[in-house]
Amino acid sequence: MPKGRKVRVIDPKGKQVADFLAFNAVEPREFLSTGATIDNNGSLYIKVGQHLYSNLYRPMLRVTADTVGAHDLLHPPCSPAMYRCQYGITGPHPSCHENFKKALAEYGLDESCIWTPFNIFMNTRVHEDGRLEIKEPLSRAGDYIELEAMFDLIVAVTACSVEESSCNAGRCGPIKIEIY
Ligand SMILES: [Zn+2]
Repeated sequence: MPKGRKVRVIDPKGKQVADFLAFNAVEPREFLSTGATIDNNGSLYIKVGQHLYSNLYRPMLRVTADTVGAHDLLHPPCSPAMYRCQYGITGPHPSCHENFKKALAEYGLDESCIWTPFNIFMNTRVHEDGRLEIKEPLSRAGDYIELEAMFDLIVAVTACSVEESSCNAGRCGPIKIEIY
């Protein structure tokens, strides 16, 4: 995704989370850091006009439009380890981690590059006592968020595979990507 290009992540049917990673296309050791994003924006949430930051604290993507307003910067991607630990699932189960691993391999990036994603449409509420509650996404059919690249990027997006909680309202659907 060249500098200045915008990616629109669309939820065509509603209530579907999309995990999102980004890397500097020239030097992938610079990557999207949800920690730096939380730190620089001084918030666990992100709004139109704010940036997602890299681990080098450089603005990486700017939020240019958002019809939902509830996303997550806290949770790791779902993975075989997570399904085993939290749901006792030991057999095969699709996951964001495995989807990222497969897609990033085409760019010479291995699974050590999979950090905490920007979890688009994931509706995590933070209570005063620090307790986290994952609620159903607020996204309705056709809702989207749009992100502008501040420099040349590699981005990876996956529709989340969790059907065991309210993360995707109990059933998984598609995610649509447009770049322009
Ligand atoms: Zn997932």
